[in-house]
Amino acid sequence: MSIDKIERDLYIGGQWTPAQSGTRRDVVDPATATVIGTVAEGDAGDIDRAVSAARTAFVDGPWPRMSGRERARVLNRVAVLLRENAEELAELESLDVGKPIGLALPVDVMTTVEQYEYYAALAQTLDGSTRDTPLNTFAYTRREPLGVVGAITPFNFPLILSNSKLAPALAAGNTIVHKPADDTPLTALRMAELLTEAGVPEGVVNVVTGSGAVAGDALLRHPGVDKIAFTGSTAIGRRAASAAAESLVPLTMELGGNAANIVFEDADVDKAVGAAIKGFVFNTGQFCMAGPRLLVARPLYDVFLGILADAVPTVPIGNPRDAQTVIGPMASDRHVTKVEDFVAAAKADGGRVLCGGERLDLDGGFYYQPTVIADLPNESSVVQEEIFGPVLTVQPFDDEAEAIALANSTAYGLAAGIQTTNLARAHRVAARLDAGIVFVNDWAMLDPAVPFGGVKASGFGRRLTVRNPMSTYTTKAAVVESGGSPFALSSIDLDEPRADEVLVRMVAAGLCHTDLGVASGGLPFPLPGVLGHEGAGVVEAVGSAVSRVSPGDRVLLSFTSCGDCANCRDGHPAYCATWLPLNLLGGARADGSPTITRDGMQLGGHFFGQSSFSELALVDERSVVKLADDAPLEKLAPLGCGVQTGVGAVWNVLQPRPGDSVVVLGAGAVGLSAVMAAALTPATTIVAVDKVSSRLDLARELGATHVIEAGTGNLTAQIQEATGGGASGMVETTGNVGVLRAGVDALASRGTAVIVGAPPFGTEVALDVNGMLGGKRVVGLTLGDSETQRLIPVLAELVAQGRLPVERLITEYPFADIEKAVEAMTGGTTIKPVLRF
Ligand code: NAP
Repeated sequence: MSIDKIERDLYIGGQWTPAQSGTRRDVVDPATATVIGTVAEGDAGDIDRAVSAARTAFVDGPWPRMSGRERARVLNRVAVLLRENAEELAELESLDVGKPIGLALPVDVMTTVEQYEYYAALAQTLDGSTRDTPLNTFAYTRREPLGVVGAITPFNFPLILSNSKLAPALAAGNTIVHKPADDTPLTALRMAELLTEAGVPEGVVNVVTGSGAVAGDALLRHPGVDKIAFTGSTAIGRRAASAAAESLVPLTMELGGNAANIVFEDADVDKAVGAAIKGFVFNTGQFCMAGPRLLVARPLYDVFLGILADAVPTVPIGNPRDAQTVIGPMASDRHVTKVEDFVAAAKADGGRVLCGGERLDLDGGFYYQPTVIADLPNESSVVQEEIFGPVLTVQPFDDEAEAIALANSTAYGLAAGIQTTNLARAHRVAARLDAGIVFVNDWAMLDPAVPFGGVKASGFGRRLTVRNPMSTYTTKAAVVESGGSPFALSSIDLDEPRADEVLVRMVAAGLCHTDLGVASGGLPFPLPGVLGHEGAGVVEAVGSAVSRVSPGDRVLLSFTSCGDCANCRDGHPAYCATWLPLNLLGGARADGSPTITRDGMQLGGHFFGQSSFSELALVDERSVVKLADDAPLEKLAPLGCGVQTGVGAVWNVLQPRPGDSVVVLGAGAVGLSAVMAAALTPATTIVAVDKVSSRLDLARELGATHVIEAGTGNLTAQIQEATGGGASGMVETTGNVGVLRAGVDALASRGTAVIVGAPPFGTEVALDVNGMLGGKRVVGLTLGDSETQRLIPVLAELVAQGRLPVERLITEYPFADIEKAVEAMTGGTTIKPVLRF
């Protein structure tokens, strides 16, 4: 297809209109430096006209008041029109920016199509929510458009970056004034036509071409603009931010980048070379997410430099209209001059140019050879600043810590890359890099479903996430919809880890009677919600203040606590002043904020600080205990609740002396753990009571010296006989008040009964008061009164030594079979189901 000389005006209020000054600007093909057309040069007056058209469309027009579904239909038509006109758009983009046509079509145009399809789908889900209040009111939230959005975009990906602002703003019902980069205005103007053809009403999208200093500045400062969406350099971004601060409008800042790409010694070298080259030649290096700083492990450094010096000059460079071309010209002559200045500075700083390093004289266009420079000091401006051209610097490093320090040593934080075959290292290092996105074993493009944005001088705000701005991680969890409902797998969204939170990929999770009590509606917890409180897994990411664990660590999850109340400070976190709301009743963080949402609605989460019936769990650091690198997680998962409860009842409360008796009422997971714990003390009589004879057989194998089958006689008398006159210690795990009463009656003088089993809330028990006068004690117990950081590593060690054979209690089930595990547990055929992820 050929495109004739292009003459375009401004697009305001649905009309083509010349700039009010009458001024025009040339549009230049960077492949040949020839003028291919002109566009109107808008100024502050034109911006004013455009903002006023956008305001009228917002206040009086149909777009903000259309339903999301109606807007979605229009956006889907835009996607169809984009596909129909894909070749023309690709050619325009190639002419305007110098993009190789082989990339402009599949990357620039097709990503733009996907943006409209994606946001069309999201437009249909922009629902509000109803809120329960204790007041006699009906409260609800609505999603409303912001108003007039001022969009300012750069020259390097005109189609993608412009429409990454237009598509979500349109989906939400806003109106827009768009100021594209003066070097590359063509596709923005063509989009205005296609949007109108698709049914976007007049005045909703307005395009004012012109210089940043004049038209851009006027848009930033216009009082009629309700939001600024800016993509461009950090220098101009600072101006935009200060203008927005004056007028107090919200803004999204997508600014410069200078990403490090770290090649570890265990990398797949071929793949790493591919990622390194792609990372700096894609879009001729004019790519905010480019990886122009290559950091290579010292053992690979010389080899890598040799490979790059040979491979880089073979990447096809030339006419962007040639389908084989990978590197086209730069967008303008001034960009080539900037790269020349950087390469001169590199030479002055002692850099060794391995290949390239010169302008390329081709068809009069703006070409620069792909260039690799080694041995630059880290302080060199060529390393520290954004070059925005086809230049790669390479530096060696000696260890992981140095690689991370070098990677984070610039002002920017948009992207980063890691090349390694060590999965734990990939996650560990990714969590330490100052970057909005980290590529592992590739250098990739973005998908509309992936949140995008930078940290530090690379900006703030995340785009491509209108579904729910808080959601960073989508994962699969077993959700209980309401009391009595089954556990059903469902997609949920996790919040980003806060400073004191840890993201854990679950490997195993034990099922406990407390989970079943909540799921049946017997224990209070906000449903729908995600339960699970005996998790074990591998740390995926950590919040900024987390010090106990790092990504890649194996961890066991237990209950959480505040760490600050008198009981926490005394080493009794299970009696934390806020234990119930933090672990059970609240379903949210201490400040009430949700850790889990689904389709934007809050779910009950934060169960025991973990809610671990989920492939990924967001966990309080205080719930996390670090284990050894080879810890068998599927075996250890139940330590977090059931096992430490039974063990703690014996070790922390009863503390049997030589010759004491320990009676365990109920031989489930907690009771059998108490039996195992008692067997590790000087108690000489260990009595297990249960109504299931197979459990009693197991109790004997685990250390019980006597067993009593409940219901076969007078339980009090049977216990007194087995213990030779009365029990010195007793652990009640059944939650049955009749069994508890019989047990207390069977205590010896000064004997202690520990209540562990929890009947429904509000249950009471009658005691023989005179019978208690012999110094008997009845003590309630939560989670073994254990200090998890000390107790759980000890238990893990005893398991490893074979002295605490918890595996005898466990039957494993795939996570998807959670309902089968529930059935087996309630049916008594399985003592401790452990879900495997
Ligand atoms: P730029 O010079 O900052 O320009 C960006 C936009 O701002 C252009 O439309 C420009 O208009 C306009 N502008 C310039 N001066 C202005 C002012 N005083 N007031 C208001 N607007 C003004 O950036 P660029 O050279 O076009 O693009 C390259 C930069 O963008 C690089 O730093 C790159 O990393 C960054 N970038 C970031 C992302 C991201 O997502 N984080 C994506 C792509 C690019 P004129 O072109 O007419 O001057």
